[in-house]
Amino acid sequence: MKLLGFYASDKRQESVPRRRRRRNWRPFLVLAVFLILLAILIWAVASIVHWWNSRVTEPVELEYVGDIPIYEEYMPEDSPGRPGEKRFVEWIVIHETDNFNPGADAAAHAAFLSGLGAEDDPRSWHYTVDDHQIYHHLPDDEAAYHASDKLNPHGGNLNGIGIEMCVNEGGDYEKTLENTVQLTAKLMMEYDLKIRDVQTHQHFSSWDKVCPAKLLEDDRWDEFLDRVEKAREAAIEAEREARRRAQEREDSILPGFLYDLLHKEDDESHGEPEN
Ligand SMILES: [Zn+2]
Repeated sequence: MKLLGFYASDKRQESVPRRRRRRNWRPFLVLAVFLILLAILIWAVASIVHWWNSRVTEPVELEYVGDIPIYEEYMPEDSPGRPGEKRFVEWIVIHETDNFNPGADAAAHAAFLSGLGAEDDPRSWHYTVDDHQIYHHLPDDEAAYHASDKLNPHGGNLNGIGIEMCVNEGGDYEKTLENTVQLTAKLMMEYDLKIRDVQTHQHFSSWDKVCPAKLLEDDRWDEFLDRVEKAREAAIEAEREARRRAQEREDSILPGFLYDLLHKEDDESHGEPEN
């Protein structure tokens, strides 16, 4: 009896904890599903960030802006100023050369950049503009050293197109400014940039360099941006008009040569050099 009693009580004791021990897996399942979804989310975000940062721009090689010629004279590929980093264009960074010497025009700066050797500080930018010409020193899809912000992600060096305006004695600064307005507007169109993407060197500079110095000291930055925006709108309107006229010609029942002959005067009144 004693033994039976022992067994009986033992069975009762066992039966109670066994029910208690039955695990409720639900919270673990919910946690596992949550962790899997979290991992997928992190992977998706990381992939998007990676894709975003690894975009590169297809560069354009302009020959003219209006009637101002653009000369392509790329720096040597082994120049210390060419890190060779391909990138996406996010900014246009405006500078002034601060070189007031007579003759310090766009051609002189092209020669300066091309002459930099391995022992020199890495310096580079994409365009130099003076009062009658523009020099193109680097493909637009390459990072350069002009914005004093190393190669910070989404910075002026890594993601900007650097434009230097000449301030040389004997040069016409107002004409240089207008040429820079036109080049900036054209590049904005080519790379689908907004006016907020046009910035000063000072905006990026880690040591607050006042550049473009004359433009900023004369408090003309807002005027510059206004003029760029107006030039961009005018260029967009001109492109729209050109497309409309091309369509009109295509839709016309007249043969092309006859249509051109009849609309010769219109074309001349809209005449703008091809670029
Ligand atoms: Zn600068």
